[in-house]
Amino acid sequence: MFLNPRLKSHDLLFYDALEKRSELTKQENRRHAATLKGFEGECLYDEIFNDVGHGDVLVYRDLYIKIGESVTQYDALVIDDEGIAVNEIKNYTGDYKVEGGDWYRAGRRISEDPVAQLNRAVGKLIGLRNAANSSFRVSGKLIFPSDDFYLHTDDNSLWSKIVVRSDLRRYFRQFRGGKIGNKSQFIVRLLSEHIAENPYFKSDVDETRLRKGVYCEQCSSYNLLKTRFHFTCTECQSKMTNETLLLRALSDYKYLFYGKPMTRVSFMNFIGHSLTFKVVYRILLKHCYVDRKGKKTTYTFKYRNFEEAISKAELYFKYKDHLKG
Ligand SMILES: [Zn+2]
Repeated sequence: MFLNPRLKSHDLLFYDALEKRSELTKQENRRHAATLKGFEGECLYDEIFNDVGHGDVLVYRDLYIKIGESVTQYDALVIDDEGIAVNEIKNYTGDYKVEGGDWYRAGRRISEDPVAQLNRAVGKLIGLRNAANSSFRVSGKLIFPSDDFYLHTDDNSLWSKIVVRSDLRRYFRQFRGGKIGNKSQFIVRLLSEHIAENPYFKSDVDETRLRKGVYCEQCSSYNLLKTRFHFTCTECQSKMTNETLLLRALSDYKYLFYGKPMTRVSFMNFIGHSLTFKVVYRILLKHCYVDRKGKKTTYTFKYRNFEEAISKAELYFKYKDHLKG
């Protein structure tokens, strides 16, 4: 049973927004591609686990756990009365070689050390368990969900830490018949008391490089024609409500200027004044927390991102979008 949804990481949301509003540098392009690939690997893991079934275990996905002063990220934690299995998901593709503990791709040493990462992640949870005077088991596996991943190694002990695509279903099936009882509940409670926000994400974009305005949900074009309640894209003819486009802009703003206060003026600049103060104000009041302390009134987007905003049931679109294609 999945306990929480799989969400795009802050980094991925940042690069998605940045890509829509500026020309990415080579390095940004690489990072965007890498974060997207990682997310796709996690989704593939979820899909296969869904297919095999996870009714006999509890699964936390993409969690930050604060233990002592440090925060560790977990791709997946599989819990039953036996304990926790840490699954570190690596969406590697191509030929890899491990020699003397070092990892190489196409003959070149890579910057990551997956085994060390896994050991650290497992070690943190062992610390948490010991501090709670409990006795459940903590184990870990590196999961390689791509069927285009090949590993060569002379270190046979490595295979016990690894699950490749061809073994993934079998690995998931091992969790069948697991018991979810008091111990599992205890573990979930213990973890939930230590869940933290991603403390590492920061964004500081040079505002001048950003394209101001609102853009088409379907084809990302900025060439939109304004009518009273809608914008129509002149490239693909999609018709979108003011609200949809402003929610997208609010979501972009959140990740491009993460943690920085947003004022009505700064948001109006961000959207290139494509709507009137009055219309924007109404949307800000509806979808943001308002902080009237101090000289300036600031607004904080209520939702994690655009996708969450439009999926909220209470959201009522009077004038619907018509996306083409
Ligand atoms: Zn369009």
